[in-house]
Amino acid sequence: MLRIGCHLSSSRGFLAMGEDAVKIGANTFQFFTRNPRGGKAKELDLADLEAYVAFAGEHGIGQILAHAPYTLNACALDAGIRTFAKETMADDLLRLSHLPESMYNFHPGSHVKQGVDVGIAYISGMLNEILTPETKTVVLLETMAGKGSEVGRSFEELRCILDQVELSEKMGVCLDTCHVYDAGYDIVGALDAVLKEFDAVIGLERLKAIHLNDSKNPFASHKDRHEKIGEGSIGLEALTAVINHPKLGKLPFFLETPNELSGYAAEISLLKSRYRADAD
Ligand code: FE
Ligand code: FE
Ligand code: ZN
Repeated sequence: MLRIGCHLSSSRGFLAMGEDAVKIGANTFQFFTRNPRGGKAKELDLADLEAYVAFAGEHGIGQILAHAPYTLNACALDAGIRTFAKETMADDLLRLSHLPESMYNFHPGSHVKQGVDVGIAYISGMLNEILTPETKTVVLLETMAGKGSEVGRSFEELRCILDQVELSEKMGVCLDTCHVYDAGYDIVGALDAVLKEFDAVIGLERLKAIHLNDSKNPFASHKDRHEKIGEGSIGLEALTAVINHPKLGKLPFFLETPNELSGYAAEISLLKSRYRADAD
């Protein structure tokens, strides 16, 4: 069975997201833990959460993926911004501990001219302050396009972060197809070679989720602009190969394409029709 969903708005709570997921044929979904631009999260509604957990069980919604606000910067130049990133992430993980199963994805950050090594030290330092042996949520580093001074533009940079995290068994990686293609990994012409490289540098056992997006820009453009499935430079054939790859087919896939719910429903049904592993 293809595990697929999309990014949903969390403004109406967990149960509403579960209902939206079912409506569009999804069996998982991604959501922002709070306003994507950062700021205060709403009070956690435990009744809504409980209702969601029951609904998810009834409708076969599996593990879901929380996404940190994309403005968090764990390796900012300004100490106040770094502290804000740390406090926000710690609070997000505390909230997610109320969910039976979840993963938490974040953008490693932008080192803003401090150099990638300084950036990596700040990011892993923050994770070392936040992660505890009790942390149940799997924390994912997202592969980045390499826009500006983004950290995580290469598998090696993610490896360096993991190497410096003491409780790195709590950590995984989320591969964004648009971002890696933008970063210069040719998943269109050489998917096997890219995955081999991922395995050699990071280890495929760390790969826990895929952001399935097409790209508005050509290969290695370092731009990070998502496109609808089949309408960008990656294309439907290459994305079909991704969902059917023997090393990837069992992972959850999350669409972050420029769509309303009806557009997501159409993409999910298209990808389900292209999924061949259902035979096994
Ligand atoms: Fe992201
Ligand atoms: Fe993404
Ligand atoms: Zn992106």
